[in-house]
Amino acid sequence: MKLTLFLDFDGVLHPENCVRDKGGVRIEGYPGRSLFDRLPLLVEALRPHPEIQIVLSTTWVKMVGFNKAKLRLGELSERVIGTTQQEDRLGRLQRGSQVEVFAKDNKLNWVALDDDDSGWREWDRLVLCPPDGLNQEKVAELVEKIERWEK
Ligand SMILES: [Mg+2]
Repeated sequence: MKLTLFLDFDGVLHPENCVRDKGGVRIEGYPGRSLFDRLPLLVEALRPHPEIQIVLSTTWVKMVGFNKAKLRLGELSERVIGTTQQEDRLGRLQRGSQVEVFAKDNKLNWVALDDDDSGWREWDRLVLCPPDGLNQEKVAELVEKIERWEK
């Protein structure tokens, strides 16, 4: 069954401490790291799975808008079909509940990449990233979950 990936940005595609000020958006407190520096790991992991679609579960949607947030994903932006961040009824929920309610309402078979551990019940569909974001070990976990849930 076709899979949907719920994707967070901060703490997944780059370290969690992403700040926005007059100088723009940047990463603070992680020397040598930069915005979206772990995106290539995800691109690589999803390449053998062109059928996987993406729903944005990041607050970047509120910060820069859906289209701009989507375009930050480069070649993966074509896979983006929606976001959990534009529905008022989900706004007050914790991250995990936002994803699970959205998935249920839209009848999605899903996995998620997030560094926010609040509100999840279906832990076996979540790849919980460390604060500095995706790494090889987490990518392996994602691939394992994709293979498991795609069936
Ligand atoms: Mg995050």
